Amino acid sequence: MDQHSPTPRIDVKAFAKTQSLLSEQTPLGKFERLMQDCVGKLTGEVAWSALGSMRPSMSGGQSAWLHLTASAVVPVTCQRCLGVVDLSLHVDQDFRFVADEATALAEDDESAEDLLVLSHDLDVLELVEDELLMALPIVPMHEACESEHAQTLTADAGDGGDDKPHPFAALAALRTRKD
Ligand SMILES: [Zn+2]
Repeated sequence: MDQHSPTPRIDVKAFAKTQSLLSEQTPLGKFERLMQDCVGKLTGEVAWSALGSMRPSMSGGQSAWLHLTASAVVPVTCQRCLGVVDLSLHVDQDFRFVADEATALAEDDESAEDLLVLSHDLDVLELVEDELLMALPIVPMHEACESEHAQTLTADAGDGGDDKPHPFAALAALRTRKD
């Protein structure tokens, strides 16, 4: 059903050995898990890149690495005022690939980079999405809700933004009662 380019899958070792680079703009709408945390219309794109390389490993051999970057602006609900806040997400992460899950678990604690098991068809978009989800704050908020509110009130009513009921609304209520 999708007319966009197919999901990029890479053979990690070959990708790293040839120091390949993938760099694309992918519509936010393709990231279904990320969209579940978003509100409003999603018109933006995720700009991302994946760069492969081989680096010496501690055991004396070579390990496949992937450097992943991604940037996106996603609309989410502010947990303080429940308005929409456009969050800028940035991902900049190194991955080192190991032979199996046991090695990944064993070496994970002492590694600054993330460890993944080598794959012949790694779904890069899924990895980008995983990282974007991790970059989302648990409690997203405006930096300053009040100023966002003041702008909205000024635009809507122009009455200075205090809490008094709108004069015309009060009038309308009186009229209804008389009728
Ligand atoms: Zn807010």
